[in-house]
Amino acid sequence: MTEMDPKDLLQQFASDNYAGICPEAWSASEAANHGHATAYGDDPWTARASDAFRELFETDCEVFFVFNGTAANSLALASLCQSYHGVICCDSAHIETDECGAPEFFSNGSKLLVAQSAEGKLTPASIRELATKRQDIHYPKPRVVTITQSTETGRVYTLAELGAISDECKAHGLYLHMDGARFANACASLGCSPAEVTWKSGVDVLCFGGTKNGMAVGEAVLFFDRRLAADFDYRCKQAGQLASKMRFLAAPWVGMLESGAWLRNAAHANHCARHFAAQVSSIRGIRLAAPVEANAAFLLAPEEILNPVRERGWRFYTFIGGAARFMFSWDTDPARVDALCRDLKECAAQAHFQQLGMDT
Ligand SMILES: *Cc1c(COP(=O)(O)O)cnc(C)c1O
Repeated sequence: MTEMDPKDLLQQFASDNYAGICPEAWSASEAANHGHATAYGDDPWTARASDAFRELFETDCEVFFVFNGTAANSLALASLCQSYHGVICCDSAHIETDECGAPEFFSNGSKLLVAQSAEGKLTPASIRELATKRQDIHYPKPRVVTITQSTETGRVYTLAELGAISDECKAHGLYLHMDGARFANACASLGCSPAEVTWKSGVDVLCFGGTKNGMAVGEAVLFFDRRLAADFDYRCKQAGQLASKMRFLAAPWVGMLESGAWLRNAAHANHCARHFAAQVSSIRGIRLAAPVEANAAFLLAPEEILNPVRERGWRFYTFIGGAARFMFSWDTDPARVDALCRDLKECAAQAHFQQLGMDT
């Protein structure tokens, strides 16, 4: 084995999927690694994980396990749509910006109907506009609304907002799908139960993300109306998403759900984001682009500050809304957050002094 550069082991906050596997998911995988089990989901771990979801969501939902979020979203949306249908989403939605056309591909052509949004949230008004814009046969028929909870922009839909969106969907005969790649962060932020944030608020299908919550791999697709899940197993198989050793996709969920790690992990990540935001928001030259409601913080700062921060070894993305994004995860080390804050502060001070020097 080649030696790893210790620098590569330092925590970065460019994405919450830079983190490893949390102990609860890891130990459940290990526990599942004894003896043989029936393949393709007909095993005790898959049954136990599905039941854990039903218990957590307080309802008899249908549960499927797939490898990643792109598959979960694409297959869930495809199951709600015919090829001539439209899916209403935000311009910043992962399905629009980061899934390489997979939702259109797996639905055989359903079109994404994109709403412009400054905050990264859909509103009843934006849904109404897209749902009623055209009624003629030349335009794809709106069928589904999809929202991301928490959003790509680090915001969280309140229960009131969810209720209003659901009412709007019902008024136009639209299904409501939730991309929950960071669903746990939203629950932790709201202090609400998973049931309240989903089916009690009118959500028909949820893609519940495990990867960013502390698992190696895996997302769960939950259908709250079982009829919508018809033939979903065939869809998964055709898309290459039916794990043959399914117990290893399912067991980590048992570890996450039965221990409560799913919520603890998210609460920790959210806490670190707030801790970061509180420290950097008072730095001259830096300002928060949006309130911190989940595990993301977006900073507005000039390149004179951001470049030197990069040169000190920090990684982050600026392609989302032009702001510098910092994401916190289940294992974020507060000391590492503080180190980043110190570097931001020093780089901002240096940029400020240089500016003063040029001015005089
Ligand atoms: C990460 C993420 C996904 C899933 O992405 P995959 O890389 O396909 O697992 C889906 N939606 C959102 C909002 C995400 O941030």
